[in-house]
Amino acid sequence: MSAPGELAGLRALVTGGGSGIGLATARLLAARGADVAVLDLDPAPATAPLRGYRADVADDISVRAAVSAAGTALGGLDILVNNAGIGAAGTVEDNNDEEWHRVWDINVLGIVRTTRAALPLLRASERAAVVNTCSIAATAGLPQRALYSATKGAVLSLTQAMAADHIAEGIRVNCVNPGTADTPWVGRLLAAAEDPEAERAALTARQPMGRLVSAEEVAAAIAYLASPAAGSVTGTALAVDGGMAGLRLRPR
Ligand code: NAD
Repeated sequence: MSAPGELAGLRALVTGGGSGIGLATARLLAARGADVAVLDLDPAPATAPLRGYRADVADDISVRAAVSAAGTALGGLDILVNNAGIGAAGTVEDNNDEEWHRVWDINVLGIVRTTRAALPLLRASERAAVVNTCSIAATAGLPQRALYSATKGAVLSLTQAMAADHIAEGIRVNCVNPGTADTPWVGRLLAAAEDPEAERAALTARQPMGRLVSAEEVAAAIAYLASPAAGSVTGTALAVDGGMAGLRLRPR
């Protein structure tokens, strides 16, 4: 795992860094010595020393402007964390074409756009790393998550394809697969439930460890994959899910 000071001198950009996993990641990278910029629809929570840039990963012009401004302010870029994403519930019957296009546009094309804009900067780095936030939904066959799972399946294969395409340029590409993580996202899901306390208890009961994953635990995995300590790691997915995907355990 990366240690304090290990990322000194490295420059990082975290999309979706205004909340949850992204904000925890931006803070951890900064605590470990990196100079960190955040790209978000609402970058306000990413306070100093983080540098905030307002942009929508679904809008190519705003992505290019934010990546360019962040690259200039940081004096280059070594680490890109493609973390911005949104959820979607339902079966294939529940989401219409417009919803499919919208979630795909953010969760998949958002990574494509940001990476495309960042690649010229990453190529100039000697320790370039990209980490995508995927999900156990990519491979777990979760019920009521057809659209979301399809986008994360695409993020997983995109991670492997990008790793292959850029390995000769010295750019490593990996992803993390979080399980259900205790972030504002899950907070919103619970708030929308009829009985939020009962919903939280049900969600927790489904976890093999009997608790949700924390944003900080996912951030630690991202920081490791982004760090020189992971210099030989590329094209892989690191599950941070309390054993949900790997152990095939029955819930408690
Ligand atoms: P969150 O809602 O707390 O944070 C997401 C951030 O992304 C927000 O700051 C939001 O403003 C930003 N964002 C959303 N759409 C954007 C856009 N179009 N352009 C720029 N920024 C945008 O969510 P989180 O739980 O921290 O999730 C972060 C990532 O982790 C997502 O990719 C999500 O799919 C993934 N993930 C989350 C969980 C979980 O249980 N929370 C599990 C697996 C994977």
